[in-house]
Order: sequence, then structure tokens, then C-alpha cells
Amino acid sequence: MYSIKKMRIGYCSVCQKRTIFVSFDNWLRESYRCAFCHSSPRQRALIKVLNDNVPEWKQKRIHESSPSGAVHRMLKKYCADYTYSFFYEDKELGKTISAGCTNQNLEDLKFEDNSFDIFITQDVFEHINNPFVAFKEIYRVLKPGGVHIFTVPIDSPLKRTVPRISIENGIRKPILPEVYHGNPIDKENGSLVTYDWGNDICELTEKCSGMPTSIIEFDKYADRDENAYLGLEAYSLYVLVSKKLS
Ligand SMILES: [Zn+2]
Repeated sequence: MYSIKKMRIGYCSVCQKRTIFVSFDNWLRESYRCAFCHSSPRQRALIKVLNDNVPEWKQKRIHESSPSGAVHRMLKKYCADYTYSFFYEDKELGKTISAGCTNQNLEDLKFEDNSFDIFITQDVFEHINNPFVAFKEIYRVLKPGGVHIFTVPIDSPLKRTVPRISIENGIRKPILPEVYHGNPIDKENGSLVTYDWGNDICELTEKCSGMPTSIIEFDKYADRDENAYLGLEAYSLYVLVSKKLS
């Protein structure tokens, strides 16, 4: 028997209309959904940060890695130059999968330098073998002045980042017990968590890519009323923005 844990009327930044937000679970970050587009707080937070940082994003060149759900549908609908990718280990890198979609490994992107204005990843960087190589790759393919807008779970904001694996001769070796999260292209097995990100994420990102990185912590967001109205009340709700300096 489902019981409602949280519900309120507000405005959804993803489907851009007045809505009702409802959650049947206490873990609001993924469960406090818009009744119309089914977006989660994580997705609405990402779009709010996109709107705040690049208000003219509909005219920009956007690439998203491993998209899913409401944000993917919305960007596809409103951004004329939106492309996306998934990583299939058994397929040739750079190969077209379907219209607008290619096979890409974030650690070895098959895009030219300075290709995109905006690069989006949502809860992807906790699954990458070498995220520091991937941050550098995103730097390379962004145009000067471009931004990487991303989310990662930071469940313990008081802790430093911890790798859960090491790579030896190209093979993943567990350092900590294996944890898997949902994966849109491998629903059965999910995706191995390779890093537990912590409060040093901005420092680490900036150190490897050279891109100044800021974190927007919605828990501490100045206007709590606005936050509530936008359905952004959730524990562990962060969005990060890295900027390639022009
Ligand atoms: Zn919505």
C-alpha cells in the first residue's frame, strides 16, 4: 500500500507548467515527481541551473551523455542542436546509434576539440573508471566559455572523495564492496559505482581539467520558498558547473 510522503503545488522547470509534486518515498532526490512530466528534483535542479547559467540554451549546441527521462525529452524538444550518447563497450566508438545519438566513451570522446557550448551528465561520473580523464575530455570538446553542468550523488557531504575501484592493466579491481546503480542501457545488471564523491569534488575537477567548478547546494539555497515552489526540496541535491575559460 503506497502512502504519500510529500505533496505540494508548484512550478516544474522541466515541463514548464504549474503542477503537483508527489512522493511516495522519503528519498525525495529521485522520488518527488512532477505529475505531468515525471521529473525528479535532481532533474529540475539541473534545468534550473541550466536556465540560470545559460538562459539562451535553446540556441546553443548541447551534448548529453547517457540521458534519460524528462530532461532528455525536454532538451530534444526545445534545443535544435541537441545530441546525445551512450557507451556500448561492444560497439565502435563514434558510431551512430540512432538519429542524434552516437556511441561515446567519456574517457575517449570521438568529437573535435571545441565542439559544444554545453555538456550535460546526470549521475554518470560515479560510474567512470577514470573520471579525471573524462573531465579533461569534456574540457577538450567544450568551446571556450562553454560549461559542463552535471550531477553526482554526494551522500556524505562531510567526507572526501573515495575511489571504490582501481584499474590494473585495464581491468577494474574492487577496493570496496561492489555497489550497483540503475543503468538505462543495462537494466538487468545496473552500473558499478566506481567513485564515492565528496566535498572535495570542485577542487578535484578543477585540478584535472583546469575548469573552475562551483557547486550549487539546494539544501542551503537562499530562497527556501522558491525552492519549495520549484519542487527542489531534497536531501543531497547538488548541481555542479565547470566553466571552460575563454
Ligand atoms: Zn514537469
